[in-house]
Amino acid sequence: MSITVGLISLGCAKNLIDSEVMLGHLAQAGMALTPDPELADVLIVNTCSFIDIAKQESIDAVFGAVKDRSADPDRARQKIIVAGCLSQRFAKELPGIMPEVDAFIGIDQLPKIAPIIHNLLGTKNAPVLTKSEGPAATDDPRDYVTLKPQFVPDYTTPRFRLTPDHFAYVKIAEGCNHTCSFCVIPQIRGRHRSRSQDSVVREVEALVTSGVREINLISQDTTYFGMDQWTVGRPKPSSPVDSSKGESLSTLLRAINQIPGEFWVRLLYTHPAHWSDELIETIAACDKVAKYVDIPLQHISERMLTAMQRVTSGASIRDLLRRMRAGIPGLGIRTTFIVGFPGETEADFQELLDFMEDFRFERAGVFQYSKEEGTRAYQMAGHLHHMTRRSRWSRAMATLQRIAGETNQAQVGKSVRVLVESPGIARTAWDAPEIDGSVHVDEALPVGQFATLTIGAWSGYDLIAAH
Ligand code: SF4
Repeated sequence: MSITVGLISLGCAKNLIDSEVMLGHLAQAGMALTPDPELADVLIVNTCSFIDIAKQESIDAVFGAVKDRSADPDRARQKIIVAGCLSQRFAKELPGIMPEVDAFIGIDQLPKIAPIIHNLLGTKNAPVLTKSEGPAATDDPRDYVTLKPQFVPDYTTPRFRLTPDHFAYVKIAEGCNHTCSFCVIPQIRGRHRSRSQDSVVREVEALVTSGVREINLISQDTTYFGMDQWTVGRPKPSSPVDSSKGESLSTLLRAINQIPGEFWVRLLYTHPAHWSDELIETIAACDKVAKYVDIPLQHISERMLTAMQRVTSGASIRDLLRRMRAGIPGLGIRTTFIVGFPGETEADFQELLDFMEDFRFERAGVFQYSKEEGTRAYQMAGHLHHMTRRSRWSRAMATLQRIAGETNQAQVGKSVRVLVESPGIARTAWDAPEIDGSVHVDEALPVGQFATLTIGAWSGYDLIAAH
Protein backbone atom coordinates (compact mmCIF):
# COMPACT_ATOMS: atom_id res chain seq x y z
CA MET A 1 0.00 0.00 0.00
CA SER A 2 1.38 3.38 -0.94
CA ILE A 3 1.03 5.95 1.87
CA THR A 4 0.81 9.68 1.22
CA VAL A 5 1.66 12.11 4.03
CA GLY A 6 1.03 15.86 4.36
CA LEU A 7 2.64 18.13 6.94
CA ILE A 8 1.79 21.58 8.30
CA SER A 9 4.88 23.11 9.92
CA LEU A 10 4.37 25.93 12.43
CA GLY A 11 6.75 27.86 14.67
CA CYS A 12 10.44 28.63 14.49
CA ALA A 13 13.38 27.33 12.45
CA LYS A 14 14.12 24.76 15.15
CA ASN A 15 10.67 23.27 14.62
CA LEU A 16 11.17 23.48 10.85
CA ILE A 17 14.21 21.20 11.16
CA ASP A 18 12.07 18.73 13.12
CA SER A 19 9.59 18.80 10.22
CA GLU A 20 12.46 18.21 7.79
CA VAL A 21 13.65 15.25 9.89
CA MET A 22 10.17 13.70 9.90
CA LEU A 23 9.82 14.15 6.14
CA GLY A 24 13.29 12.66 5.62
CA HIS A 25 12.31 9.53 7.55
CA LEU A 26 9.02 9.26 5.67
CA ALA A 27 10.73 9.57 2.28
CA GLN A 28 13.29 6.97 3.37
CA ALA A 29 10.44 4.64 4.34
CA GLY A 30 9.04 5.00 0.81
CA MET A 31 6.06 7.18 1.71
CA ALA A 32 4.92 9.89 -0.70
CA LEU A 33 4.82 13.52 0.50
CA THR A 34 2.13 15.97 -0.55
CA PRO A 35 1.71 19.70 0.03
CA ASP A 36 -2.06 19.22 -0.33
CA PRO A 37 -3.79 18.08 2.94
CA GLU A 38 -6.79 16.81 0.94
CA LEU A 39 -4.63 14.17 -0.72
CA ALA A 40 -2.93 12.91 2.44
CA ASP A 41 -3.65 9.55 4.07
CA VAL A 42 -1.94 11.00 7.13
CA LEU A 43 -1.72 14.69 8.03
CA ILE A 44 0.92 15.79 10.56
CA VAL A 45 0.54 19.16 12.30
CA ASN A 46 3.94 20.13 13.75
CA THR A 47 2.99 22.66 16.42
CA CYS A 48 4.57 25.52 18.36
CA SER A 49 3.87 26.38 21.98
CA PHE A 50 6.36 29.14 22.82
CA ILE A 51 3.82 31.80 23.79
CA ASP A 52 0.04 32.16 23.86
CA ILE A 53 -0.34 33.41 20.29
CA ALA A 54 1.72 30.51 18.94
CA LYS A 55 -0.25 28.05 21.04
CA GLN A 56 -3.52 29.41 19.71
CA GLU A 57 -2.30 29.24 16.11
CA SER A 58 -1.34 25.59 16.65
CA ILE A 59 -4.67 24.69 18.27
CA ASP A 60 -6.52 26.42 15.40
CA ALA A 61 -4.47 24.48 12.85
CA VAL A 62 -5.30 21.14 14.54
CA PHE A 63 -9.00 21.89 14.88
CA GLY A 64 -9.01 23.27 11.30
CA ALA A 65 -7.61 19.96 10.04
CA VAL A 66 -10.18 17.99 12.07
CA LYS A 67 -13.01 20.16 10.72
CA ASP A 68 -11.85 19.88 7.11
CA ARG A 69 -11.62 16.12 7.46
CA SER A 70 -15.14 15.78 8.81
CA ALA A 71 -16.49 18.06 6.05
CA ASP A 72 -14.99 15.95 3.26
CA PRO A 73 -16.22 12.34 2.85
CA ASP A 74 -13.11 11.53 0.78
CA ARG A 75 -10.96 12.29 3.85
CA ALA A 76 -12.97 10.23 6.32
CA ARG A 77 -10.15 7.70 6.72
CA GLN A 78 -7.41 10.32 7.02
CA LYS A 79 -5.32 10.11 10.21
CA ILE A 80 -4.24 13.29 11.99
CA ILE A 81 -1.03 13.38 14.05
CA VAL A 82 -0.11 16.26 16.36
CA ALA A 83 3.66 16.70 16.75
CA GLY A 84 5.98 19.38 18.14
CA CYS A 85 6.12 21.63 21.16
CA LEU A 86 2.37 21.73 21.90
CA SER A 87 2.14 17.97 22.06
CA GLN A 88 5.38 17.63 24.04
CA ARG A 89 4.35 20.38 26.50
CA PHE A 90 0.76 19.22 27.05
CA ALA A 91 1.37 15.50 26.66
CA LYS A 92 -0.92 14.67 29.56
CA GLU A 93 -3.76 17.04 28.67
CA LEU A 94 -4.09 16.90 24.87
CA PRO A 95 -5.49 13.38 24.45
CA GLY A 96 -8.49 14.45 26.56
CA ILE A 97 -8.92 17.81 24.82
CA MET A 98 -8.51 16.53 21.25
CA PRO A 99 -10.49 13.27 20.97
CA GLU A 100 -10.50 13.46 17.15
CA VAL A 101 -6.70 13.37 16.86
CA ASP A 102 -5.29 9.94 16.02
CA ALA A 103 -1.81 10.24 17.56
CA PHE A 104 0.33 12.61 19.62
CA ILE A 105 4.09 12.45 19.25
CA GLY A 106 6.95 14.34 20.91
CA ILE A 107 10.60 15.13 20.21
CA ASP A 108 11.86 11.57 20.75
CA GLN A 109 9.35 10.21 18.25
CA LEU A 110 10.63 12.29 15.30
CA PRO A 111 12.78 9.43 13.96
CA LYS A 112 9.99 6.93 14.71
CA ILE A 113 7.38 8.66 12.61
CA ALA A 114 7.25 6.01 9.86
CA PRO A 115 6.56 3.02 12.18
CA ILE A 116 4.03 5.12 14.10
CA ILE A 117 2.19 5.81 10.84
CA HIS A 118 2.28 2.11 9.94
CA ASN A 119 0.84 1.33 13.38
CA LEU A 120 -1.93 3.89 12.92
CA LEU A 121 -2.93 2.63 9.51
CA GLY A 122 -2.62 -0.98 10.56
CA THR A 123 -0.47 -1.51 7.53
CA LYS A 124 0.37 -5.11 6.86
CA ASN A 125 3.73 -6.00 8.41
CA ALA A 126 3.69 -2.81 10.50
CA PRO A 127 6.71 -2.80 12.82
CA VAL A 128 5.76 -3.33 16.46
CA LEU A 129 6.79 -0.44 18.70
CA THR A 130 8.45 -1.39 21.96
CA LYS A 131 7.35 0.23 25.23
CA SER A 132 10.23 2.72 25.16
CA GLU A 133 9.17 3.80 21.68
CA GLY A 134 5.49 3.82 22.48
CA PRO A 135 3.06 5.32 24.98
CA ALA A 136 4.69 6.91 28.01
CA ALA A 137 3.17 10.21 29.14
CA THR A 138 -0.35 8.77 29.56
CA ASP A 139 -2.14 5.44 29.18
CA ASP A 140 -4.02 6.73 26.14
CA PRO A 141 -3.15 4.46 23.19
CA ARG A 142 -2.91 7.50 20.91
CA ASP A 143 -0.18 9.03 23.07
CA TYR A 144 3.38 8.27 21.97
CA VAL A 145 5.03 11.19 23.79
CA THR A 146 7.93 10.36 26.10
CA LEU A 147 8.79 13.00 28.70
CA LYS A 148 12.32 14.43 29.15
CA PRO A 149 13.28 14.03 25.49
CA GLN A 150 16.78 12.94 24.50
CA PHE A 151 16.74 13.05 20.70
CA VAL A 152 19.15 15.26 18.81
CA PRO A 153 19.74 14.89 15.05
CA ASP A 154 23.04 13.73 13.60
CA TYR A 155 24.56 14.23 10.15
CA THR A 156 23.30 10.76 9.21
CA THR A 157 19.71 11.66 10.19
CA PRO A 158 17.50 11.59 7.08
CA ARG A 159 16.27 15.07 6.23
CA PHE A 160 14.08 16.54 3.49
CA ARG A 161 14.91 20.25 3.37
CA LEU A 162 12.02 22.71 3.17
CA THR A 163 14.14 25.86 2.75
CA PRO A 164 15.19 27.16 -0.69
CA ASP A 165 18.23 25.45 -2.26
CA HIS A 166 20.62 28.24 -1.27
CA PHE A 167 20.12 28.39 2.51
CA ALA A 168 19.76 25.82 5.27
CA TYR A 169 19.39 25.65 9.01
CA VAL A 170 21.69 23.36 10.98
CA LYS A 171 20.70 22.43 14.52
CA ILE A 172 23.93 22.10 16.52
CA ALA A 173 22.28 21.19 19.83
CA GLU A 174 18.89 20.58 21.34
CA GLY A 175 17.40 21.61 24.70
CA CYS A 176 18.43 24.31 27.15
CA ASN A 177 20.06 24.33 30.61
CA HIS A 178 18.97 27.87 31.44
CA THR A 179 16.07 28.66 33.74
CA CYS A 180 14.84 31.98 32.36
CA SER A 181 11.74 32.62 34.43
CA PHE A 182 9.47 33.52 31.46
CA CYS A 183 10.36 30.54 29.28
CA VAL A 184 8.87 27.04 28.96
CA ILE A 185 11.35 25.75 26.39
CA PRO A 186 13.58 23.77 28.81
CA GLN A 187 10.49 21.94 30.08
CA ILE A 188 9.48 21.12 26.52
CA ARG A 189 12.78 20.31 24.86
CA GLY A 190 14.78 18.94 27.79
CA ARG A 191 18.38 19.48 28.91
CA HIS A 192 20.97 20.89 26.53
CA ARG A 193 22.66 18.20 24.43
CA SER A 194 25.22 19.13 21.82
CA ARG A 195 26.02 17.26 18.68
CA SER A 196 29.67 16.42 18.11
CA GLN A 197 31.67 18.96 16.14
CA ASP A 198 32.49 16.29 13.56
CA SER A 199 28.79 15.60 13.02
CA VAL A 200 28.01 19.30 12.43
CA VAL A 201 31.02 19.83 10.16
CA ARG A 202 30.10 16.82 8.03
CA GLU A 203 26.57 18.10 7.63
CA VAL A 204 27.75 21.58 6.66
CA GLU A 205 30.24 20.06 4.16
CA ALA A 206 27.45 18.07 2.52
CA LEU A 207 25.16 21.11 2.37
CA VAL A 208 27.87 23.32 0.84
CA THR A 209 28.72 20.59 -1.69
CA SER A 210 25.05 20.44 -2.67
CA GLY A 211 25.06 24.18 -3.44
CA VAL A 212 23.93 25.78 -0.16
CA ARG A 213 25.38 29.29 0.17
CA GLU A 214 24.18 30.19 3.65
CA ILE A 215 24.33 28.03 6.78
CA ASN A 216 22.33 29.21 9.79
CA LEU A 217 23.51 27.58 13.01
CA ILE A 218 20.67 27.23 15.49
CA SER A 219 19.78 25.71 18.87
CA GLN A 220 18.22 27.13 22.03
CA ASP A 221 21.64 28.45 23.10
CA THR A 222 24.29 28.16 20.39
CA THR A 223 27.02 29.59 22.65
CA TYR A 224 26.67 26.59 24.97
CA PHE A 225 27.67 24.27 22.11
CA GLY A 226 30.06 21.55 23.33
CA MET A 227 30.10 22.72 26.94
CA ASP A 228 27.75 19.96 28.12
CA GLN A 229 30.32 17.47 26.82
CA TRP A 230 33.28 18.87 28.73
CA THR A 231 34.75 16.24 30.97
CA VAL A 232 36.59 18.70 33.27
CA GLY A 233 34.00 20.03 35.69
CA ARG A 234 30.46 20.98 34.81
CA PRO A 235 30.19 24.54 33.48
CA LYS A 236 27.79 26.81 35.32
CA PRO A 237 25.04 28.56 33.32
CA SER A 238 27.14 31.74 33.39
CA SER A 239 30.43 30.14 32.28
CA PRO A 240 32.16 31.74 29.33
CA VAL A 241 33.34 29.54 26.49
CA ASP A 242 36.77 28.01 27.05
CA SER A 243 37.95 25.83 24.18
CA SER A 244 40.87 24.43 26.15
CA LYS A 245 38.27 22.26 27.89
CA GLY A 246 36.87 20.68 24.72
CA GLU A 247 34.71 21.47 21.70
CA SER A 248 33.02 24.84 21.70
CA LEU A 249 31.34 27.25 19.33
CA SER A 250 34.79 28.76 18.61
CA THR A 251 36.33 25.44 17.60
CA LEU A 252 33.24 24.64 15.53
CA LEU A 253 33.33 27.97 13.65
CA ARG A 254 37.04 27.57 12.91
CA ALA A 255 36.41 24.07 11.54
CA ILE A 256 33.49 25.24 9.39
CA ASN A 257 35.60 28.11 8.11
CA GLN A 258 38.05 25.54 6.65
CA ILE A 259 35.36 23.96 4.46
CA PRO A 260 36.07 24.81 0.80
CA GLY A 261 33.39 26.63 -1.19
CA GLU A 262 31.66 29.97 -1.42
CA PHE A 263 29.26 30.34 1.52
CA TRP A 264 28.68 32.22 4.74
CA VAL A 265 27.70 30.85 8.11
CA ARG A 266 25.43 32.77 10.47
CA LEU A 267 25.03 32.52 14.24
CA LEU A 268 21.54 32.63 15.69
CA TYR A 269 20.32 32.38 19.32
CA THR A 270 23.52 33.13 21.25
CA HIS A 271 23.27 33.76 25.00
CA PRO A 272 25.22 36.66 26.58
CA ALA A 273 26.42 34.47 29.48
CA HIS A 274 28.72 32.32 27.33
CA TRP A 275 30.47 34.86 25.16
CA SER A 276 34.25 35.09 25.47
CA ASP A 277 37.09 37.04 23.90
CA GLU A 278 38.01 33.83 22.12
CA LEU A 279 34.63 33.73 20.38
CA ILE A 280 34.91 37.41 19.41
CA GLU A 281 38.40 36.80 17.96
CA THR A 282 37.14 33.71 16.13
CA ILE A 283 34.29 35.55 14.42
CA ALA A 284 36.62 38.40 13.45
CA ALA A 285 39.24 36.00 12.05
CA CYS A 286 36.95 33.67 10.07
CA ASP A 287 36.10 35.15 6.68
CA LYS A 288 33.17 32.77 6.11
CA VAL A 289 31.45 33.69 9.37
CA ALA A 290 28.90 36.44 8.69
CA LYS A 291 29.58 39.54 10.74
CA TYR A 292 26.16 39.20 12.28
CA VAL A 293 25.28 38.01 15.73
CA ASP A 294 21.86 37.23 17.10
CA ILE A 295 21.96 37.73 20.89
CA PRO A 296 18.56 37.97 22.59
CA LEU A 297 19.13 40.25 25.60
CA GLN A 298 15.52 40.53 26.86
CA HIS A 299 16.22 43.55 29.12
CA ILE A 300 18.96 45.70 30.58
CA SER A 301 17.58 46.80 33.95
CA GLU A 302 19.30 44.93 36.77
CA ARG A 303 16.00 44.30 38.52
CA MET A 304 14.46 42.81 35.40
CA LEU A 305 17.49 40.68 34.48
CA THR A 306 17.46 39.24 37.99
CA ALA A 307 13.72 38.59 37.92
CA MET A 308 14.07 36.99 34.48
CA GLN A 309 16.95 34.82 35.79
CA ARG A 310 19.14 35.73 32.87
CA VAL A 311 22.40 35.04 34.79
CA THR A 312 23.92 38.21 33.33
CA SER A 313 24.09 41.72 34.73
CA GLY A 314 23.44 44.98 32.92
CA ALA A 315 27.12 45.91 33.35
CA SER A 316 28.36 42.61 31.88
CA ILE A 317 26.02 42.96 28.88
CA ARG A 318 27.18 46.52 28.17
CA ASP A 319 30.81 45.44 28.52
CA LEU A 320 30.28 42.47 26.21
CA LEU A 321 28.61 44.59 23.52
CA ARG A 322 31.49 47.08 23.60
CA ARG A 323 34.04 44.26 23.26
CA MET A 324 32.05 42.72 20.39
CA ARG A 325 31.88 46.02 18.50
CA ALA A 326 35.58 46.75 19.09
CA GLY A 327 36.68 43.21 18.20
CA ILE A 328 34.54 42.51 15.12
CA PRO A 329 34.70 45.26 12.49
CA GLY A 330 31.47 45.68 10.52
CA LEU A 331 29.41 43.69 13.02
CA GLY A 332 25.61 43.82 12.84
CA ILE A 333 23.99 42.92 16.16
CA ARG A 334 20.43 41.57 16.30
CA THR A 335 18.63 41.37 19.60
CA THR A 336 15.18 41.00 21.10
CA PHE A 337 13.65 42.45 24.23
CA ILE A 338 10.66 41.65 26.42
CA VAL A 339 8.66 44.58 27.79
CA GLY A 340 5.96 44.47 30.45
CA PHE A 341 7.56 41.69 32.51
CA PRO A 342 6.01 41.39 36.02
CA GLY A 343 7.29 44.18 38.24
CA GLU A 344 8.72 46.28 35.39
CA THR A 345 8.52 49.93 36.46
CA GLU A 346 8.50 52.99 34.23
CA ALA A 347 12.11 53.57 35.34
CA ASP A 348 13.12 50.03 34.25
CA PHE A 349 11.44 50.58 30.92
CA GLN A 350 13.06 54.00 30.45
CA GLU A 351 16.45 52.43 31.15
CA LEU A 352 15.73 49.95 28.35
CA LEU A 353 14.81 52.77 25.92
CA ASP A 354 18.02 54.61 26.82
CA PHE A 355 20.00 51.41 26.27
CA MET A 356 18.48 51.05 22.78
CA GLU A 357 19.48 54.62 21.97
CA ASP A 358 23.02 54.11 23.31
CA PHE A 359 23.81 50.84 21.56
CA ARG A 360 21.83 51.37 18.36
CA PHE A 361 21.38 47.72 17.42
CA GLU A 362 21.46 47.14 13.68
CA ARG A 363 18.51 44.73 13.96
CA ALA A 364 16.14 44.48 16.91
CA GLY A 365 12.67 43.35 17.89
CA VAL A 366 10.51 43.64 20.97
CA PHE A 367 7.86 41.33 22.43
CA GLN A 368 5.21 41.99 25.01
CA TYR A 369 5.60 39.70 28.01
CA SER A 370 3.35 36.65 27.65
CA LYS A 371 2.15 34.94 30.85
CA GLU A 372 2.94 31.26 30.37
CA GLU A 373 1.64 28.54 32.63
CA GLY A 374 4.36 26.41 34.16
CA THR A 375 6.96 29.20 34.24
CA ARG A 376 8.31 30.87 37.39
CA ALA A 377 7.16 34.25 36.15
CA TYR A 378 3.57 32.99 36.04
CA GLN A 379 3.56 32.89 39.85
CA MET A 380 5.25 36.28 40.33
CA ALA A 381 3.57 39.30 41.85
CA GLY A 382 3.27 42.51 39.89
CA HIS A 383 1.80 41.39 36.56
CA LEU A 384 1.10 44.49 34.52
CA HIS A 385 -2.16 45.53 32.89
CA HIS A 386 -2.27 44.54 29.24
CA MET A 387 -2.68 48.22 28.22
CA THR A 388 0.60 49.07 30.00
CA ARG A 389 2.36 46.20 28.25
CA ARG A 390 0.95 47.27 24.90
CA SER A 391 1.83 50.91 25.37
CA ARG A 392 5.43 50.09 26.33
CA TRP A 393 5.67 47.75 23.33
CA SER A 394 4.49 50.57 21.02
CA ARG A 395 6.98 53.04 22.49
CA ALA A 396 9.85 50.54 22.23
CA MET A 397 8.87 49.69 18.65
CA ALA A 398 8.78 53.37 17.69
CA THR A 399 12.31 53.81 19.06
CA LEU A 400 13.60 50.72 17.27
CA GLN A 401 11.93 51.72 14.00
CA ARG A 402 13.55 55.15 14.07
CA ILE A 403 16.96 53.59 14.78
CA ALA A 404 16.38 51.05 11.97
CA GLY A 405 15.71 53.92 9.55
CA GLU A 406 18.86 55.73 10.64
CA THR A 407 20.86 52.50 10.30
CA ASN A 408 19.53 52.04 6.76
CA GLN A 409 20.25 55.68 5.86
CA ALA A 410 23.88 55.12 6.91
CA GLN A 411 24.11 52.26 4.38
CA VAL A 412 23.27 54.48 1.40
CA GLY A 413 26.27 54.80 -0.91
CA LYS A 414 28.01 51.77 0.57
CA SER A 415 29.07 48.70 -1.38
CA VAL A 416 27.65 45.50 0.15
CA ARG A 417 27.77 41.78 -0.58
CA VAL A 418 24.34 40.18 -0.88
CA LEU A 419 22.91 36.71 -1.39
CA VAL A 420 20.08 36.76 -3.93
CA GLU A 421 17.00 35.27 -2.27
CA SER A 422 14.42 35.38 -5.08
CA PRO A 423 14.04 37.39 -8.30
CA GLY A 424 14.59 41.05 -7.32
CA ILE A 425 15.15 40.32 -3.59
CA ALA A 426 18.48 39.79 -1.78
CA ARG A 427 19.81 39.76 1.77
CA THR A 428 23.00 41.22 3.24
CA ALA A 429 25.08 39.52 5.95
CA TRP A 430 23.03 41.55 8.44
CA ASP A 431 19.76 39.99 7.25
CA ALA A 432 18.87 36.54 8.55
CA PRO A 433 16.27 34.69 6.48
CA GLU A 434 12.65 35.23 7.53
CA ILE A 435 13.70 37.53 10.39
CA ASP A 436 15.35 40.66 9.05
CA GLY A 437 14.83 42.99 6.08
CA SER A 438 15.97 42.60 2.50
CA VAL A 439 17.52 44.48 -0.41
CA HIS A 440 15.55 45.22 -3.58
CA VAL A 441 17.86 44.37 -6.47
CA ASP A 442 17.89 43.94 -10.23
CA GLU A 443 15.58 41.06 -11.21
CA ALA A 444 18.24 39.72 -13.54
CA LEU A 445 20.60 38.75 -10.70
CA PRO A 446 20.73 34.94 -10.41
CA VAL A 447 18.88 33.50 -7.40
CA GLY A 448 21.07 31.71 -4.85
CA GLN A 449 24.26 33.51 -5.88
CA PHE A 450 26.29 36.21 -4.16
CA ALA A 451 26.59 39.66 -5.72
CA THR A 452 28.23 42.93 -4.70
CA LEU A 453 26.25 46.10 -5.23
CA THR A 454 25.85 49.67 -4.03
CA ILE A 455 22.95 50.78 -1.84
CA GLY A 456 21.02 53.66 -3.40
CA ALA A 457 18.10 54.23 -1.03
CA TRP A 458 15.99 52.65 1.70
CA SER A 459 12.36 52.17 2.63
CA GLY A 460 11.13 50.94 6.02
CA TYR A 461 13.30 47.98 7.05
CA ASP A 462 14.52 47.36 3.47
CA LEU A 463 17.35 48.70 1.35
CA ILE A 464 17.18 49.49 -2.37
CA ALA A 465 20.15 48.85 -4.64
CA ALA A 466 21.38 51.70 -6.84
CA HIS A 467 20.87 51.19 -10.59
S1 SF4 B 1 18.07 30.68 27.14
FE1 SF4 B 1 16.28 31.23 28.36
S2 SF4 B 1 14.83 32.06 26.82
FE2 SF4 B 1 16.35 30.87 25.70
S3 SF4 B 1 15.43 28.82 25.50
FE3 SF4 B 1 16.78 28.82 27.33
S4 SF4 B 1 15.39 29.28 29.03
FE4 SF4 B 1 14.33 29.86 27.13
